[in-house]
Amino acid sequence: MDSLAVLHADMRACRRCLDGGFSIASGAVFSSGSARRVMLIGQAPGVTEAQVKRPFNAGSGRRLFQWLGEAGWDEETFRAEQYMTAVTKCYPGKAANGKGDRVPSKAEQTLCRPFLEQEITLVRPRLIILVGGLAMKLVYPTSTHLEDVIGTAVYFPPESLTSPLNFDLATAVPLTNEQLPSFLETAAGDGRFIVPLPHPSGASLWPNKPENRQRITRAVTILRHLRQWWQ
Ligand code: SF4
Repeated sequence: MDSLAVLHADMRACRRCLDGGFSIASGAVFSSGSARRVMLIGQAPGVTEAQVKRPFNAGSGRRLFQWLGEAGWDEETFRAEQYMTAVTKCYPGKAANGKGDRVPSKAEQTLCRPFLEQEITLVRPRLIILVGGLAMKLVYPTSTHLEDVIGTAVYFPPESLTSPLNFDLATAVPLTNEQLPSFLETAAGDGRFIVPLPHPSGASLWPNKPENRQRITRAVTILRHLRQWWQ
């Protein structure tokens, strides 16, 4: 087995959270496409994702793939070619108040972090799409609001990626959708772009506000530019 296959086997067999006393439904959910230029990182799988072992399988997937479709990726091609994972890989169960799924605790995120770091190290994605607030915190300060970053991107040049796990924003170039086309005329192709998206769950009202729809449109424009640039 190659390194990625070994990692996937370890993730599927993992019981760290169960052993730590967390009430998760075991079984890691991720998908590893053939090209893997893009890594999409969500929060954690939901219940239907855990049942069928398919990331963003249900309602949130419809909204996510609508956005990606506007950027030019059809769903099946994206699933077949790119890498989809999450901050924590197993379904965390329902929230205590019964509304939606439980947000994985910091302890669970810490237990699962080595897997995410190995995924990034082995895949070395050229674009990371961070989906939702928990994933955003991998790169942005915890005080960052969706309004601050949705519709923008950052670019880590190749010289800043001697460690593939470098998330130090001081070494990255901040970009808006207006700046991106001219930036791409000179950008090195083997750097890494980071583009955040809001969580696409239907339970979230954030994407419905007109000013936020504009932010999402700008984010989709960034993704479309990047997809076309690679073509
Ligand atoms: S969430 Fe991550 S660390 Fe926890 S059991 Fe699943 S794979 Fe293991």
